[in-house]
Amino acid sequence: MTETLAERRERLMGPNVPTFYDDPVHVVRGEGVWLWDAAGRRYLDCYNNVPHVGHGHPRVVAAIAAQAARLNTHTRYHHTLILDYIERLTATMGHGLSQMILTCTGSEANDVALRMAQAATGKRGVIATDNTYHGNTLATSQLSTRRPPIGGYPAHVRLVPAPSSTEPLGGSRAAQPAAFAEGVARAIAELEASGEGFSGMMLCPAFANEGLPALDPGFFDPAAEVIRKAGGLILADEVQPGFGRLGSHFWGHEHMGIAPDVVTLGKPMGNGFPVAGVVARPEVMAAFRGAFGYFNTFGGNPVACAAAMAVLDVIGEERLMQNAAAAGAHALARLQDLRHPFIAEARGTGLFLGLELRDGEGRPATEFAARVTEEMRRRGVLLNRIGRQMNILKMRPPLVFTAEHADIAANVLAEVLAELPHDG
Ligand code: PMP
Repeated sequence: MTETLAERRERLMGPNVPTFYDDPVHVVRGEGVWLWDAAGRRYLDCYNNVPHVGHGHPRVVAAIAAQAARLNTHTRYHHTLILDYIERLTATMGHGLSQMILTCTGSEANDVALRMAQAATGKRGVIATDNTYHGNTLATSQLSTRRPPIGGYPAHVRLVPAPSSTEPLGGSRAAQPAAFAEGVARAIAELEASGEGFSGMMLCPAFANEGLPALDPGFFDPAAEVIRKAGGLILADEVQPGFGRLGSHFWGHEHMGIAPDVVTLGKPMGNGFPVAGVVARPEVMAAFRGAFGYFNTFGGNPVACAAAMAVLDVIGEERLMQNAAAAGAHALARLQDLRHPFIAEARGTGLFLGLELRDGEGRPATEFAARVTEEMRRRGVLLNRIGRQMNILKMRPPLVFTAEHADIAANVLAEVLAELPHDG
């Protein structure tokens, strides 16, 4: 019998290499919001935030190709592209965030951010939320809860309960900001008592991996006050909400009303070319450089910068943030119009949407959400699941997604919901 792709993958890459779906799509080509598999079948990509301005965007492809043909090298020479990019990128941020390090991945960016907090405070303790993901380096994996670290969480790490819109901390949406801040205050007190001290809190401003909860304006204010009083830094992980996805603001921290000390960027930044970064205020950057030094062979090389620059060009010229607002509002309205006994809440901002599924007794409909996701894939629409119980359907398409694409997705979802058997 011939070996399947899944078997070959396991033979060559080892077990448990995560792929999406029982039968992962064998993709061979992409354009805009569409992907094609090896058999020539087309799929609507409602999930992929890496091709931020669309799969294979010709402008980004041309910029990468032209720069690769002219020069690519490590980052120990002078090159103006990286400077031009940093100038342009930091101009989109406030709060004195004017200096930047470029890396290759979001994980590296978050690792640097954690060390910036240590360098700026002289302390080690760090807080994150309890169902998050910040990367695959040793330090970031110790904050990520998909699997507890070997030997348990290190003494300098504290995870606090993340907010939720269907099961709010403190029992109500109104009580949630104070309840969240209490969790942060408790964690800081524990870190201080343990002798680790408190360096900062890392969070995704959309709480993307926690399930994209709908939060009231000012939600983070009480927690921010607690963090500031304790002398800690706020590290905003913009890998998911950044670069205009939320439609209302270019950055998730602006949408949430947070004034971060450090911002990390990744996935969408190069439309698939590996480029990521860390933005900080000069005094934080100076503390980091003094304590750690830093060099990254590939981070922000000329081709990476050409890709990243072209992404900013396209976002502006094609008005993709405005599109995220308009197409996202339409998509949300379509999700809110769906009728099914298991729909607990449709929510989201811009092109970052969640549909929470709960059974007749209000329990997370994890299995049902898995079946919906698989069935959507069979019918040619790619989306996925998130949340503590993986019961929230998540849509996070390239920003060239339009109302017509949203209609296709919503119509297929309506069919799947109507046809799939469910208990309760
Ligand atoms: N932070 C968040 C919020 C992420 O979603 C991810 C990737 N899933 C990362 C960091 C890590 O980025 P990378 O995979 O580029 O290292």
